[in-house]
Amino acid sequence: MIGYASQLSPQVDATALSDFKAVLIGRYQQLQKLLPLDDTRAVLTKAHVVPELAPTLDALAAAINAIPEPTRQDAAREFLVLAQERLEQCRAAKLKVAAAKVRSERATKIFTTFGQVTTAALEKIYKDVETAFSGCYRKINEDDESAFTAKLMPSMGKLGFDVDFYGRGHFPPGAYHSEGHQDGMGLCLYLALMSHLLGKNFTFAVLDDVLMSVDAGHRRQVCTLLKESFPDTQFIFTTHDEIWLRHMKSEGLIKGRNFAHFRTWTVDLGPTEWDDRDVWTEIDAYLAKGDVRGAAALLRHYLEHFAKEACDRLRASVEFRGDAQFMLGDLLPNATSALGELLKKAKAAANSWNQKDIIEKIEVTEATFGEAKVKTNHQQWQVNTAVHFNAWADLKKEDFTPVVAAFKAFTGSFGCATCGEMYFVTPDRGRKEALRCGCGGLNLNLLQKGS
Ligand SMILES: [Zn+2]
Repeated sequence: MIGYASQLSPQVDATALSDFKAVLIGRYQQLQKLLPLDDTRAVLTKAHVVPELAPTLDALAAAINAIPEPTRQDAAREFLVLAQERLEQCRAAKLKVAAAKVRSERATKIFTTFGQVTTAALEKIYKDVETAFSGCYRKINEDDESAFTAKLMPSMGKLGFDVDFYGRGHFPPGAYHSEGHQDGMGLCLYLALMSHLLGKNFTFAVLDDVLMSVDAGHRRQVCTLLKESFPDTQFIFTTHDEIWLRHMKSEGLIKGRNFAHFRTWTVDLGPTEWDDRDVWTEIDAYLAKGDVRGAAALLRHYLEHFAKEACDRLRASVEFRGDAQFMLGDLLPNATSALGELLKKAKAAANSWNQKDIIEKIEVTEATFGEAKVKTNHQQWQVNTAVHFNAWADLKKEDFTPVVAAFKAFTGSFGCATCGEMYFVTPDRGRKEALRCGCGGLNLNLLQKGS
């Protein structure tokens, strides 16, 4: 009651109550502590003593009795106030429901329209891409899948892609088509998507080793497809397959010098081309460091590349290998004797036409070539190539430096000093008619009079 005493009207003085409360707290604490025992005993003897509280309690009783009871009218008013409040809440909620309903109807309509429009737009894209894709793929596989079709079917959150298999129905590409055909499909899908997305701006594409599993016949068709259907797009092909590179050249997909042959690459400096100057500088750098092993490995690697190129250009006879894995010993002696034979043949031809000045010129070339050949110790490497080239790594720097010089002169004697291009035989099939270089500084007739 101490708290309420001051709120009553008239106010009641509760000091007596507060004092007694303090006394009780003091006694309680002493009993809790127990010690000193004298104090506790004193508290116990007085535990029953209560001060005179009657006047205060009487005053409180009187004040409480004076508080009026809530009347029926008050109760009714309170009820109405509450009812009014709830009625207002109810009305506000009803308004909100109505507004939300309108909004929901509008949102549903927008959502449906958006769905219809986007679906229609997407389906048109699928249809367009599907058509373009099928067209490209039919072109690559003209020989046996000229009726090929494909279906792009959207379903929840993904796009189904089924292709026709020889009229037996539509299945996922991986179901029946070979890896090569799937590679072809991948390329066609890419081309179809790119021409759809970029249209006229599809001017540049890099195809990184995409046709590795596609066979030669279909590669030829890919070449045709790219040439015919994408005349405004520049394609860059990368491949580690030299046969495919030569194929692209012979199909005319790449013309002239539109190719680069990389020897190696690093993340920092990018690719390094097979370029003579590059190689010799690098070999010299190895030697300068005293790294004969490194120089020997690079020289050998270069000679492998060189011999392959020389055999191809000079149309040298080489023992056939189905896996196209030729060792240095399978090629370098053959390239060497091929050039010797060609020079001999050119001399015989010039002789038959009685062209004295040409004979003299050939004899000079032959002499240079012969001398370069001798300096490389060619008698020895022709007998046992593997032993000969492997022995380089164990040479001293002083002994290997002349070897490098000899091979530099030797490989140099296969090409024209003016244009730097390696000699080649024309035409590249059938009867050999001429041995020449790019600039025509060397252009030797191989056909004898009356042949
Ligand atoms: Zn030349």
